[in-house]
Amino acid sequence: MSKINQHSNDLPNSPFRGRGGKVILAGAGPGDPELLTIKALRYLQKADVVITDRLVSEEILTNYTREDALIISVGKQCSKGASTPQSEINDLLVEHAGRGRLVVRLKGGDASIFSNILDELRTLATHQIPYEIIPGITAALGAAAYAAIPLTARGYSTAVRFLTHYKKDDLNESYWKDLAQTADTLVFYMSSEPLDHLVENLLQYGIGPDKWLAVIEQATTPLQNVYNCPIHEYLSAKRGSHYVSPTLIIIGKVAALHEPFQWLPDSHSKENYFAPVAAQTASPVVTRAAEPTLKKYAYADSAET
Ligand code: SAH
Repeated sequence: MSKINQHSNDLPNSPFRGRGGKVILAGAGPGDPELLTIKALRYLQKADVVITDRLVSEEILTNYTREDALIISVGKQCSKGASTPQSEINDLLVEHAGRGRLVVRLKGGDASIFSNILDELRTLATHQIPYEIIPGITAALGAAAYAAIPLTARGYSTAVRFLTHYKKDDLNESYWKDLAQTADTLVFYMSSEPLDHLVENLLQYGIGPDKWLAVIEQATTPLQNVYNCPIHEYLSAKRGSHYVSPTLIIIGKVAALHEPFQWLPDSHSKENYFAPVAAQTASPVVTRAAEPTLKKYAYADSAET
């Protein structure tokens, strides 16, 4: 591993050399590498530089990037207080695209959902750097499919909301009341640490006993686990639980459908699929993809098993 500024010399074999740089803002999907879109894959195979978030499968970086591409990790893990400042990420985009390179900015899940894409778009627009946005399968959709929870199952729910309860006091009383009373399916990102608080509030504002809660750990990866129960039973069964990051919460009548329709067995593992970011990591790190740390996991039904 070495720091980025030791690698800022020109790269050989760039398909974009002399043609002006470009940035591709792409979602990598939630974990299973096979959930990458073909469009993102094709750009990754051409990219000179890949600037990647933490929640991107190492297999994607190893198998689908050029041997001589620069892979720059700008992992963020707020729960560990570690994060690359957004301004540094913006600078990397400008620096590499400014050198005429094809840069893929790879984000976990979808490129726009609960991400800092707006900052990056503003930076690219200010510097008149051309860009494209490629969607990815967001964690809500990946988790729902791999946990067999149809988010708007007929007769159960007619709408779904993507939310976060990352900060404890970020939602006001009328908002909580609405969340507790709605028939919409609620999907919470970045909310496993304050989960007890979230459940307490929904109970306090009268959420019905027909609502279930599902916690999906490391969704779509071979280490996936799903815990689910009626929301009224959660605190007596699971108060104080810690879950392996990343974790998604689904609340609504539909969460009860996991049990009858589960198709992917739980891994019962507490191992991390995505490498945790070291607490002291504050600056971007260049890692060549094919590092010996790469672990191979078997996907039950995948062509790669
Ligand atoms: N852009 C991403 C979300 C980034 S916010 C997307 O569209 O999915 C990060 C949060 O997403 C995590 O805290 C977690 O709540 C959720 N998440 C991402 N990948 C996940 C996975 N494989 N399993 C469960 N939750 C995941």
